Amino acid sequence: MAPGNCVVKGCKTTLFNKGPAINFHPCPTSLDMRNRWLQILKYRCTILDWAKSRICSKHFENKHFDAQRKLKPNAIPTLFPAMGDSASKTIVKNTNTSSSKLDKALSRMTQAELMSDVKLTLVRMKEPINLSEFVYDDLKCKPDAPMEAKLWVLIKKQEYLNNMLTDAVVKNNKNLEVLQKNMTDTKSGRKEMEQSIENYKYVIKCLQEKQATLEEQVEILTAVESR
Ligand SMILES: [Zn+2]
Repeated sequence: MAPGNCVVKGCKTTLFNKGPAINFHPCPTSLDMRNRWLQILKYRCTILDWAKSRICSKHFENKHFDAQRKLKPNAIPTLFPAMGDSASKTIVKNTNTSSSKLDKALSRMTQAELMSDVKLTLVRMKEPINLSEFVYDDLKCKPDAPMEAKLWVLIKKQEYLNNMLTDAVVKNNKNLEVLQKNMTDTKSGRKEMEQSIENYKYVIKCLQEKQATLEEQVEILTAVESR
């Protein structure tokens, strides 16, 4: 795209042939509008440079212009020349409004995908050559160790910590199971105890009744004897 040409592929408008009714418009500055433009322009420009590319009025419907024939803030190009077979993806430049290609790629990944991707990368990483020359036995790096060795040790330590954490979680779960089982046992034990207390109460009541009967009999007998 030469400066002074319309960015749209196949559009013949230039500064020299455009005529008074046609203007060149800059690209939007907001991330949201840039994303919307990109959806439409990604197969219709060779290079889209947000800072330098210009697009001519021919690609906008009348509703997108204000009274001064300036583009409204929410204007989106919708009119294009028929495309040939050469539809290829647009190279986008100057996308430095906080959303980098990396950010976009990351935002498309789920957390699980990201984690498995990180794990795979870690597995594929090779131990730096001569690692032992730069690392003390207690896994501390010598001051002159190359960045590779430092990162490697850091990752290995992290891996070790992760394993410890996983072990701890597993152990904790087991303890919890034992604790829950104990609680269930205690509950059923308490039920049994309550049951036997009831039994004892019954026995005591019976005995008390029997004692009362005996006392009565003794009274009767004593009364008979004293006659
Ligand atoms: Zn144009």
